[in-house]
Amino acid sequence: MPKTFTHTFDTPAFKGTATVNTGLFIGGKWVDPVDPASIDVINPATGKAIATISLASSKDIDIAVDVAKKAKIIKAYKTSWGLKAPGSVRAKLLNKLADLLEKHSDEFAALESLNTGKIFATAKADDVGGAISCIRYFAGWADKVQGRTIETNSTKLTYSRHEPYGVVGQIIPWNYPLMMLSWKISPALATGNAIVLKPSEVTPLTALRICDLVNEAGFPPGVLNIVNGFGPTVGQAIAVHPLIEKIAFTGSTLTGRKILKASAESNLKDVTLELGGKSPTIIFDDADVEQALKWASHGIFYNMGQSCTAGSRIFVQEGIYDTFLAKFSAIAKSVGSAAGDPFDEGTKHGPQVSSTQFDRVMAYIDSGKQEGATVHTGGEPGGGEGYFIQPTIITDVKPEMKVVQEEIFGPVAVLIKFKTEEEVIESANNTTFGLASHVFSENLGRALRVAHALEAGTAWVNLSQVPEVAVPFGGYKQSGIGREMGEYAVNTYTQVKGVHVNLELKL
Ligand code: NAD
Repeated sequence: MPKTFTHTFDTPAFKGTATVNTGLFIGGKWVDPVDPASIDVINPATGKAIATISLASSKDIDIAVDVAKKAKIIKAYKTSWGLKAPGSVRAKLLNKLADLLEKHSDEFAALESLNTGKIFATAKADDVGGAISCIRYFAGWADKVQGRTIETNSTKLTYSRHEPYGVVGQIIPWNYPLMMLSWKISPALATGNAIVLKPSEVTPLTALRICDLVNEAGFPPGVLNIVNGFGPTVGQAIAVHPLIEKIAFTGSTLTGRKILKASAESNLKDVTLELGGKSPTIIFDDADVEQALKWASHGIFYNMGQSCTAGSRIFVQEGIYDTFLAKFSAIAKSVGSAAGDPFDEGTKHGPQVSSTQFDRVMAYIDSGKQEGATVHTGGEPGGGEGYFIQPTIITDVKPEMKVVQEEIFGPVAVLIKFKTEEEVIESANNTTFGLASHVFSENLGRALRVAHALEAGTAWVNLSQVPEVAVPFGGYKQSGIGREMGEYAVNTYTQVKGVHVNLELKL
């Protein structure tokens, strides 16, 4: 029998309890894995275990896909999801889920903060708030999925239909567990698909807790299945499953390649990939420097640098470079001095999500030193007994260094001086990634010219890290395939059929 655990929060930010099921959520029920296995979930602010949860194997994925297939809307239109849940009903269910999440937003923020080390207030406003907005936005699309009639000739009626795939597989990372879950499930459910989703094994708590709300909202059993497990086993089982017709993945470029390969070698499932980044932040002499400083700091230190869109390569024009570096360093130190318990008021900087990530980020800082760069600010652990790393600024870098080319995924920025617009565009585009970009200039003509020249799926002009649910999001180059958010996501979760009806054509 699957178990639950209850965590009591007695913190300045939140007092209360959260009870979370530790099993697998399949067919609307909590079940044990076929082959019993479990993993400890760790609080990164202390390094101590919070709970033990079940781990699935590929056998559980087979069961979940079977259940999802029975619940799916197409090829089984006599099932409850198909017959009883047209777009208007799906919209109602999603809105109910958003309402329930809003009702429990403190509890969800507390669980997210506990499991990831995010600052509680940020988790509440951005992660939980963002997830609620996302679910509501796609609820609005559920009854607006439309094809078109297409004028051909008078003997035929021809039109297009946007149909769901059926069973979709979704695999998400640990940096925004609830928000990434909402980005994935909302458009997929709005368009009538059934889902088998794997959260990150590092951060499963909010994904597990939301299953109870999915049942409470009244979704038909089996339309959303959440199965915990490791990537190479459970993730791989989703990626190769012959009855999963689409897969949406967010995570590292390395794993993205494996997903694409698994799809190619199994059933050629449709693939959407949201991968890593090494996003440039370009600050021209004519920028509002005080604002640019704040946004650039936010761009790299927000979520302890664990954002795929983090502005980790900061290019500063020579006229303001020295002033910028001095002030940027002061901000980094001030953020670092407010490192601590994510639930304490006044904490501005939490831990990295895991010991693995801590080691990875520290190894990158070391590699910068080895390759001859200067660690100007930070570069050391510090802030608490967990996996804390001080906000770090690296200078004197060369384009080929690992700290310039590779995604560090921690609070580490490289600062690079530039002279001209042409030069900085070339340097900024000198990367295999292409997720996001930032341009700071009060000259709007220049800012837009540069934003358009940068090879990235998102261009932020005079701001950073503020996505919008209605605006497409995704990567150029090796940062991904396809787009999430906005109408693009609705299209991503439907396939188009052209229908030809003979009106009077005789053979
Ligand atoms: P990861 O690729 O290691 O893991 C992501 C997910 O994939 C996890 O659930 C993991 O269990 C699973 N996985 C691992 N190996 C697998 C395999 N062989 N087959 C199938 N699934 C497998 O990435 P991570 O370390 O969890 O997350 C950090 C990465 O995610 C960073 O590179 C970051 O840039 C990226 N990311 C991208 C976006 C985006 O929208 N582009 C958003 C958030 C994070």
